[in-house]
Amino acid sequence: MGDSRILARWLGRAGDTRPIAHDASGTTTWREAVAQADRVAGALLEGRTSLEGARIALLVWPGADFIVSLFGVLRAGGCVVVLSPLHPPPETTYFCADAGVETIITSPELASRLEGVAGGRRVLRTDALLGGPASGAASVAARPQAGDPALQLYTSGTTGKPKGAVITHENLAMQQELLGEAWAWRAGDVLLHVLPLHHLHGLGIAMLSALGAGASVRFMPFDARATWDAMAGATVFMAVPTVHAKLMAALDDADGPTRSRWTAHARALRLVTSGSAALPVTLGERWRELTGAYPLERFGMTEIGVGAANPLPPERRRAGTVGLPLRTVDTRVVGDDGLDADTGELWIAGPCVFSEYHGRPDATRAAFVQDDARGLRWFKTGDTVARDPDGYLRILGRTSVDILKSGGYKLSALEIEEALREHGAVAEVAVVGVPDAVWGDRVVACVVARAGREDECAEGPLRAFAKERLAPYKVPKQVVVMAELPRNAIGKVLKPELVKKLG
Ligand code: AMP
Repeated sequence: MGDSRILARWLGRAGDTRPIAHDASGTTTWREAVAQADRVAGALLEGRTSLEGARIALLVWPGADFIVSLFGVLRAGGCVVVLSPLHPPPETTYFCADAGVETIITSPELASRLEGVAGGRRVLRTDALLGGPASGAASVAARPQAGDPALQLYTSGTTGKPKGAVITHENLAMQQELLGEAWAWRAGDVLLHVLPLHHLHGLGIAMLSALGAGASVRFMPFDARATWDAMAGATVFMAVPTVHAKLMAALDDADGPTRSRWTAHARALRLVTSGSAALPVTLGERWRELTGAYPLERFGMTEIGVGAANPLPPERRRAGTVGLPLRTVDTRVVGDDGLDADTGELWIAGPCVFSEYHGRPDATRAAFVQDDARGLRWFKTGDTVARDPDGYLRILGRTSVDILKSGGYKLSALEIEEALREHGAVAEVAVVGVPDAVWGDRVVACVVARAGREDECAEGPLRAFAKERLAPYKVPKQVVVMAELPRNAIGKVLKPELVKKLG
């Protein structure tokens, strides 16, 4: 397959003096970033020729330092595992152990979060790596190949703990190309970036696709009012439905002059996208009223990048659909009988599909179907879809009731149940997603308490317990104590019944 094309594209901009990133600490140019990444690579290599796929974790704030650290790891032949300040220590410890992380690169302000987590691992701080006297770029001899692992991103599934999806240099390079052509990315674009980077949406679909065209990224933490203000001068904005809902709520609360100013910012954007969860049509229509264009909704997944997207011309976008498969993406809609159908599970094949779940041969085998006749390796998405006669895809839901989507994050009900079950007062627990206009799925825990320990299972104490073990977006928004859980004849909890009751 040859050398990494994502790195060739990166190095091709080594002399570019335009901005690559704007963040809280200022503006960084492409030229500075490429040189700094080589310094990171030099520090990681310590005289070795290549990291040969070693896992290097980043606990770095979104911004130029993140980009430089990520490309530094790639330049050195390493594979990036993205950690998040949102994760409490038990989750961070799990990710580092599961991935076999060798070194952690951290922002100085986040270093204290690694106490007790880092183990014997080497910890490098970005201020030490990047802040010293500019001694010039190190010479880096590593030459990662297209099929080498570039990223390992953790994603929740229907079994136990999150799995590390291994994404190759070629997967990322293809995504940059496909999204570059589908969304007409150009060097003059400015992406307003408010998404977390430990999720493929913020990392690959937003940040890396912008960088693939030499565009620049304006990073800021999400706050609805500040985001409307920061749209001025940006050309592209990407968000999850929860962010779109919060933006529209802030717009409704704003005074007349503020509303006019924000509307003018929104009209000047050339592209607004939505993904990671279904965009309620009412919300999409708000954007259309405001700007004349319905947001471009697309379907993506950690394991495949973007598989399908609505077309760029606004008049060809269809509300309630995720559009058409991208150029190199093969799709099948498979019915219960395993045959092609109009409605069924979506299967995806093509060069954007990830290689494996790290250290989980069984889970990897279960996720794929080999099609020798067509020479394709189908990835089963777990999403039920319908295909319109002209090919547009509609996501109808997930095939498993145990996969939830809240705030754009994919969550495993089973993982949350496992964490809650560690509480001695919890006898039984079922976690469900209740439809919600802002969150998509609102995470609700239905709990049966051990006799006499009902108080300990109240919402306050149980949520506090969960927060110590799970990222905030996984913590149930509501806890309902019940005398018993509804079960069928063989004892399986009837989750759809619970959802109906709570909805
Ligand atoms: P993740 O790997 O966290 O990005 O989650 C991928 C899952 O998000 C998919 O399998 C879908 O269930 C869901 N998803 C992504 N985009 C959309 C969309 N536009 N509409 C509905 N569901 C979506």
